[in-house]
Amino acid sequence: MNEAQQVSGPEEAYQRALDAGRLIIQRCGECDRSVFYPRTICPHCGANNLSWFSPMGDGHVYSTTTVRRSQEDGGDYNVCIVELAEGVRLMSSVRGISPDRVIIGTKVRTKVVKIDGKGLLVCEVK
Ligand SMILES: [Zn+2]
Repeated sequence: MNEAQQVSGPEEAYQRALDAGRLIIQRCGECDRSVFYPRTICPHCGANNLSWFSPMGDGHVYSTTTVRRSQEDGGDYNVCIVELAEGVRLMSSVRGISPDRVIIGTKVRTKVVKIDGKGLLVCEVK
């Protein structure tokens, strides 16, 4: 994780890893809980002993919505909150099925895709 340690802030480290095709989140060295959104202080115990790791990528849809858009603009798409097996929740989008078919509890696997050179976290149904 050297590239993650050489940048200025945790948010930038997170995006740089995504840009390189990897999802990383933080874990607290004091209370051992997973942490997301990237930050410098543990929201659970207040320690400043966070380190990066790659989660397994398995999770389920915690919350979901369909964003309506005209066909000319690309059609409807899903926006969701995914809860990973490690216990953190991330904003994402389920791809590969109609957005209307994504329901709370759907088991998904995370995937990093590149759009215009930037890494983006999406999910596929397991
Ligand atoms: Zn902690």
